[in-house]
Amino acid sequence: MQYDIQHISEITKATALLHNKNTVIEHLATDSRRIAFPATTLFFALVTERRDGHAYIAELCERGISNFIVDHSFDNTPFTEANFLVVKNTLLALQTLAAYHRQQFAYQVIGITGSNGKTIVKEWLYQLLSPDYTIIRSPRSYNSQIGVPLSVWQMSAENNLAIFEAGISKPGEMEALANIIQPTIGLLTNIGEPHSDGFASPQQKLEEKLLLFTNTPIIFGRETDMHSCSHQFKTSQQIITWGNAAGNACVIQAIEKAQLTTIINLVYHGHHHQINIPFTDDASIENIIHCWCISTQLGVAASTLQTRINQLQPVDMRLQLVHAINNCTVINDSYSFDITSLSVALDFLAQQQQQTNRTVIISDIPATSSERDAYLQVIEMLKARNIHTLITIGEHWMAFESLLQQSFPLLQQYISTDAFISQFNASHFKNEAILLKGGRVFGFEKIVLLLEKKVHQTLMEINLTAIAHNLKEYRSQLARHVKMMVMVKAFAYGSGSAEIAGLLQFHKVDYLGVAYADEGVELRKAGIHLPIMVMNVDEAAFSAITEYNLEPELFSFPIFNAFLQFLQQQGVTKYPVHIKLDTGMHRLGFEAADIPQLQHLLAHNQYMIVQSVFSHLAASEDPNEDAFTQFQAAQFDESCKALEATLGYSFIQHISNSAAIFRNHQLQYNMVRLGIGLYGVESANTNQVALQTVTTLKTTIAQLRQVPTGETIGYNRRGKTTRPSTIATIRIGYADGFSRRLGNGVGKVYINGQLAPVIGSVCMDMTMIDVTDVPQIQEGDTVEIFGKHLPVQQIASWCQTIPYEILTTISQRVKRVYVEE
Ligand SMILES: *Cc1c(COP(=O)(O)O)cnc(C)c1O
Repeated sequence: MQYDIQHISEITKATALLHNKNTVIEHLATDSRRIAFPATTLFFALVTERRDGHAYIAELCERGISNFIVDHSFDNTPFTEANFLVVKNTLLALQTLAAYHRQQFAYQVIGITGSNGKTIVKEWLYQLLSPDYTIIRSPRSYNSQIGVPLSVWQMSAENNLAIFEAGISKPGEMEALANIIQPTIGLLTNIGEPHSDGFASPQQKLEEKLLLFTNTPIIFGRETDMHSCSHQFKTSQQIITWGNAAGNACVIQAIEKAQLTTIINLVYHGHHHQINIPFTDDASIENIIHCWCISTQLGVAASTLQTRINQLQPVDMRLQLVHAINNCTVINDSYSFDITSLSVALDFLAQQQQQTNRTVIISDIPATSSERDAYLQVIEMLKARNIHTLITIGEHWMAFESLLQQSFPLLQQYISTDAFISQFNASHFKNEAILLKGGRVFGFEKIVLLLEKKVHQTLMEINLTAIAHNLKEYRSQLARHVKMMVMVKAFAYGSGSAEIAGLLQFHKVDYLGVAYADEGVELRKAGIHLPIMVMNVDEAAFSAITEYNLEPELFSFPIFNAFLQFLQQQGVTKYPVHIKLDTGMHRLGFEAADIPQLQHLLAHNQYMIVQSVFSHLAASEDPNEDAFTQFQAAQFDESCKALEATLGYSFIQHISNSAAIFRNHQLQYNMVRLGIGLYGVESANTNQVALQTVTTLKTTIAQLRQVPTGETIGYNRRGKTTRPSTIATIRIGYADGFSRRLGNGVGKVYINGQLAPVIGSVCMDMTMIDVTDVPQIQEGDTVEIFGKHLPVQQIASWCQTIPYEILTTISQRVKRVYVEE
């Protein structure tokens, strides 16, 4: 993976402006925040709708990066020490370079596309085939226009099989990915539901996806997905489908599900096989059939394959972040271990601003042919991220002891996971962010259990990837100059302030908004340096506000004058403040009639700088109130104009909340305030938005029992059985935020693919559910209270309230777990 810069220049047909012609490039980067090896990294200044990579070049030069691919818009004259390759389109250059790199290798490349299951199938193929092959695969779900070239760049002569996934979101994207991946084996996974995002129809989406396989000699897929597109295949291509019909290469004769396993009888190219798999859900069954067909094609004997299938693990590719003992944060990424995923995990560790010390617990690296090099490379990566404590587990690390001692302030080495556990002392871990990265055989789950705080098993899972997606959706609505404030009040709508704010800081939003000064102080203590507006201030909070550099909302004359006096006493000048106008909400703010007096107070006021003037819409989501919304905006305009004339400088103006961002593009001014939408909740009239579910509240079944007809369930005997019933007691009650209004059949929960009603009244810590109609249920099973399968809006409607109240009343004793996909 080394190219000299002149060679890259030729491949990308760039105009080269080289300061140092002998530079060797090993790493490609498109994200200025994720660069570990400055000296050998080539940075591509990508231009997207919202972000222009060229803007980061000055900062990157300072950090020691000196190789850039830029477009003609960029003026490189100030940067005399760096190498520049100038191209027409920087994304195209990245893709061209990756495509060239791909052509250097003659081994098989499996290309996977589809709507569901891509990542799982990729990971299972990896598990099934890695005893026979040295495989390079896309890290996590790197499958986009940028992710695919970065994945393919990892191919090396050491490998003899590659597995890449390709995902698209609109027409025209697949051709580029096909050129980069150039798959020799194609797999179409489940094409999914007919809701088709950026596509005119499901058929168009399918046809676009299949462009990945235009030049692929052999293609696998489900009969149901493949047959509607048979016209797209050439006769020279071998199409291997599976399904129930006799014409398939793989005929599925029977699928028999037992309690925990499934037996599949199939006939493949005329031979009968029986496969026993350790899963019972339809998606897993489908994914295994895909994997079985491809593994068989690649020459794995049926009996060997069965042994490996028995050991398959469900794939949880996600990084998990949990709060742990002694104010530590644990990032558990012990599912797999390869260099690329280590790099992703280290970036995620670096994002954790709430602790200053970073610890990595790392296992031996799974066997590679150039063992020593791999270890040296990992050591370099760790050094580049300022790791304070390194804990190695495994024999191979022992050989690097002296090098490690020089490289890390604190080093501990253990021969095995058990050795670590037997010497574990909880008090050795304090106020640190700990990354666990280990091969599966090392069983790091046991370490996670030691470090995690033991709490009752109700969890609120917050999907950080979905938050990033939703943020992007909202940003795509904004005109180019418009800034974004994100409201993280009320514990970030229940999701956890510091974690969410850290993510928002990473994604470079412009402002954060909190309700009270305490919330802002917490964020500062957690390392958040974005500007923070505090909405509800009182005199008691002034010193905290200035001490922690928070920006108050001034909404009345008493508060204005008190703050002014405070600034004067403290000798502070030009302190940033925000002026709140009441244009019809009648909650907080100056009214139109107050403007002259406000003008008087602000004129020549050297103590304050008006950072922004804003107002809040009372009913932006409601089409019936659009006239009122317009009225509020008109009043806002008028007051802003008057204030601007007095101040003689311009300030940020903002009035839109989540619903207005989508519904009233003309009300963006120069900032918007995003709230509930970030957390994946659409307001009623904006459902054209493709938001992703962020929060999942789940718990587990503590006990199951059979109850005969005519018995009663729970306090005051409110629940009655009208048939022989199976009753599950789940570990959540009103003290967790599961409202008593959900009792007696009003609310339902989601178990094993089905909704089951609450029976009887909700108790403080527990609730009884009628699961008589739910198949295959067991104690310990997970129950979704709300999430993907049961939207929080539905819970809100059962409780006759709004999602805001449901989210913000989930109690603090419910553990928050953060995942990144
Ligand atoms: C909470 C809040 C918002 C965000 O509202 P959403 O409806 O959640 O988007 C915006 N502005 C102010 C002043 C708020 O208090």
